[in-house]
Amino acid sequence: MKAKKRTGMNLTYRQILKWGDKREEEVDPLMLKLIKEKFDLKDPDVRLKYLSGLQEVKLEKPPGLNPLQLDFLRGIVGIENIMTDDFSRAKFSCGKFYTELLDLRFNLIPNPPDAVVSPKSHDEIVRIVGYCNNEKIPIVPAGGQSSVTGALQAPLGGIALDMMKHMNKVLKINPSNKTVTVQAGISGPALEDELNRYGFSCGHFPQSFEYSTVGGWISAKGAGQASTGYGKMEDMVVALKIATPAGVIETKEYPRTAQGWDIFRLFIGSEGTLGIITEAILNIHNYRPQNTAYASFIFKSFGQAVTSMQKIIQSEYGRPHLFRISDPDETDIAFKTKGFDNSLSDKLLKSLGFLPGKRSLMFVSVEGDKDYTRFVLKKIKGTARKGKGMYIGKSPVKKWLDQRYSSAYMRDPLMDLGIMTDTLETSVTWENLLKVWSATHAYVKQRPKTLLMIHISHVYESGANLYLTFLSPMEKGNERNDFAAFHKGLIDTIQENGGSLSHHHGVGRVLAPWMERHLGKTSMAVLRAVRKHFDPNNIMNPGGMLGIS
Ligand SMILES: Cc1cc2nc3c(=O)[nH]c(=O)nc-3n(C[C@H](O)[C@H](O)[C@H](O)COP(=O)(O)OP(=O)(O)OC[C@H]3O[C@@H](n4cnc5c(N)ncnc54)[C@H](O)[C@@H]3O)c2cc1C
Repeated sequence: MKAKKRTGMNLTYRQILKWGDKREEEVDPLMLKLIKEKFDLKDPDVRLKYLSGLQEVKLEKPPGLNPLQLDFLRGIVGIENIMTDDFSRAKFSCGKFYTELLDLRFNLIPNPPDAVVSPKSHDEIVRIVGYCNNEKIPIVPAGGQSSVTGALQAPLGGIALDMMKHMNKVLKINPSNKTVTVQAGISGPALEDELNRYGFSCGHFPQSFEYSTVGGWISAKGAGQASTGYGKMEDMVVALKIATPAGVIETKEYPRTAQGWDIFRLFIGSEGTLGIITEAILNIHNYRPQNTAYASFIFKSFGQAVTSMQKIIQSEYGRPHLFRISDPDETDIAFKTKGFDNSLSDKLLKSLGFLPGKRSLMFVSVEGDKDYTRFVLKKIKGTARKGKGMYIGKSPVKKWLDQRYSSAYMRDPLMDLGIMTDTLETSVTWENLLKVWSATHAYVKQRPKTLLMIHISHVYESGANLYLTFLSPMEKGNERNDFAAFHKGLIDTIQENGGSLSHHHGVGRVLAPWMERHLGKTSMAVLRAVRKHFDPNNIMNPGGMLGIS
């Protein structure tokens, strides 16, 4: 069958690369002002769209599956659920990693799948996996395609398995067990809307919430912005149904067991390399937003803020849900881009010794029963006060929450200005946190004309996640190599100073080269053996994933 004719509007590289609301094409004016000052950009520089990606998508590589194979797959999912047109293949060839976006801007699609297949049920997926295993056709499972680790590329071709189109339903809410059963391709908003209607919430709110799926959250071992209270994906999954080349695995809904190791945990973080997660059972929580207590604090130094954060999380009087600190650079940028810089309140803060270049913001929210949230917030305020933090009201954290997803929409307009921008994140222990922070800070600051924002989020008794966002002008004509060298140096710096390779973005193909150095040969051998068991023909997301395929 011929691919459905699309309107011209949908056929450009930009349509694929643009994150978030496709209409949001401007850099926020205060951010623009800051960037112009820092990077010495003139008005003509910011009027041009650098590598706009507005060209129509065209692939050089023809689809590699033969007509018999395509017919067989059509027989499973229906002719309308297999796409082989250039745009569909290009759309499913990548996620949202910086160099993938650069490739799209250069009109390059290096690793397209041969076809995009959209199954409608668990049984169809079982048949697809069985057939592809026999025929040795690679399968790359795709959720919302928000991966930032190169985890969706198809270097060996094969099919992209589009989980979002049909596999997107809530199957059962169980108020008695406080669990929900979903198909894995359900998106954040669809899940949350349905749960809220019954008085529940999933509690998982990554910045990519609007466009990512439960299957992707589990596979990449994600963390939401309220993870300090609700936990990461590995804390939320109760049971899974998975179609693997070695057969179907369906684990049962028990609170905990001691029946050997938990098989479903092998698939949390497996990034599509072992099988397709078709359904998941997750824990759910009461939805009571009216009870949420908020607080914002400012500290005179990052060190003081970190010490208070550690005391709060270790004091055992209850935990915040959202809990984050911005380092002095990120705090200064927040003041400037929110129009707070040099305001009357800012002048007052400065006169009290909360100085630019040193001060650090802390944001907190506590969710749950009303008595609980009030009690915990009161205790947090006490600890912050003892740690020399000043309470500055609810409004800063609420404003931050208002733009919790949309702030990321600015990435593509920034790239339009010829600005390289990316993020990295790492898990660190308290005793190592300031060391990793200083080392990464020093590394990035070696590069001339750089903006660096670091925050701490996802907080645990034993440590936290350090999250780095950097901006710097692209080296025009050498964009890819320049980024690759800078990025490699930053990952090396994190690793040499004892940070983990990832806390919640996963590994994919981008971080795979560091896996063995990080985990060691024996652990890698275990991962490879597990992979060999489930996927003896190397069809599940093959080609460089996790350093094992
Ligand atoms: C702007 C932005 C902000 C982000 N913020 C966060 C954040 O706050 N927290 C966070 O954790 N991450 C964040 N991410 C990263 C990304 O959103 C997460 O990794 C997310 O979990 C991916 O979900 P997805 O549905 O988009 O999966 P995809 O990107 O489609 O896939 C991710 C991986 O999971 C595999 N996969 C997907 N579905 C299945 C399935 N059903 N069965 C088996 N394998 C499957 C894919 O093969 C791939 O390896 C962000 C990304 C962007 C672009």
